[in-house]
Amino acid sequence: MMQVVILAGGMGTRLREITGDLPKPLAPIAGSTLLGRQLDLIAASSLTDVVILSGYRADLIADYCGDGSKWGLSVRCIAEAQPRGTAGAVLDALDALQDTFIVMYGDVVLDVDLDRLVDAHRTHATSGTILVHPNDHPFDSDIVEVDAEGMVTRIRGYPHPEGEDLPNLVNAGLYVLERRGLAELTGLPPKPDFGKHVFAAMLDQGASLYGYRSPEYIKDAGTPERLAKTGRDIASGKVSALSLRSKAPAIFLDRDGVLNREVGLISRPENLELYPGVGETVARINRSTFRSVVVTNQPVIARGDCTVEELGRIHARLDTLLARDHAYVDALYYCPHHPDKGFPGEVAHLKFECDCRKPATGLVLQAAEELQIDLGRSWLIGDTTTDMELARRCGLQFILVETGHGGRDGRFPGASTLTARDLSEAVDIILGPRAAEARAN
Ligand SMILES: [Zn+2]
Repeated sequence: MMQVVILAGGMGTRLREITGDLPKPLAPIAGSTLLGRQLDLIAASSLTDVVILSGYRADLIADYCGDGSKWGLSVRCIAEAQPRGTAGAVLDALDALQDTFIVMYGDVVLDVDLDRLVDAHRTHATSGTILVHPNDHPFDSDIVEVDAEGMVTRIRGYPHPEGEDLPNLVNAGLYVLERRGLAELTGLPPKPDFGKHVFAAMLDQGASLYGYRSPEYIKDAGTPERLAKTGRDIASGKVSALSLRSKAPAIFLDRDGVLNREVGLISRPENLELYPGVGETVARINRSTFRSVVVTNQPVIARGDCTVEELGRIHARLDTLLARDHAYVDALYYCPHHPDKGFPGEVAHLKFECDCRKPATGLVLQAAEELQIDLGRSWLIGDTTTDMELARRCGLQFILVETGHGGRDGRFPGASTLTARDLSEAVDIILGPRAAEARAN
């Protein structure tokens, strides 16, 4: 059995100019309310049992939801006796909850495939699953570090040390939790917060947490500006377009020679330098309804030039440089393999003919599966004939950029019909020129 718990206790002080004395979850948006949209989303999943933890004006929340039958759901409201913080409200209500439940904040706009999230939680059989995503302001967000299998290794609360590279993976505020894992926790403060206290305590006390990475829309709407922005995103169709409930197109990006200067194999973070304007251009992709996915061959791993951990630091550098322009990539897939054996220092078990080294299709097909990508409406931007060949094999539209190798590598035959000076011009071809985009906004 599985339940959804909505945290609806917030007063909404910052929204008062819009909501008057309404509690925050009842803030009006796109012809509904924040809470109404969440109940619509739950109704679209296989989940039917909802518990709303209310506080401020609990009477209004209860009146609004009734028994949930309006949504085809079973809704029960529990008013907290005293404000105890977001996690405190859940801990106080544990006896009324089922063994496994989703926790959703009542002041966010989201369109997440909840069944898919629940499946991932069940597959990994952890005490908790945190939906994680890159965002456009990681420097003032809680960063979630995960290992190669997606298991959470550490949560780094902000503020972050000046000048440190940060992997852009942020706690999005949507969880699947096991009641037993929470009941056993000790040493929490009186008003615990999930991000700041509960997950850290779980990791300290040996519980396992899975970081479920998703490109879906989930944003706080708790200020008048954010409420207006999320309302516009609903109206433009962006919120639903990014959901994993349906397929979306992607812009696949090669790394070296497209995003960052081609300087040969990169085995240290300081050797990664973005071309001018790349951050702004990737931010334009982020504002569109295209997913953004980097696919890159990194034989440095098989050659023994750097470890997977060191490659992680190089990609934290990439994330950090992009984040300076409020840009991010939804996902990055790399091939660590290399076919030719017999070099000193190599990692022998990675030396074979894999199915992911470009132009093999493995990375693109894995991304398409994991991110619900419609390849027929997607693009690849690259600087080599290897990328051109990859696009041909996957049925992607291809744009060759003149940066990096500029198509002069001569590995595969064929000519690209579309060329662009650089990434920015390539994205103009796909999204339309920047001036037109500015008018559309
Ligand atoms: Zn490979």
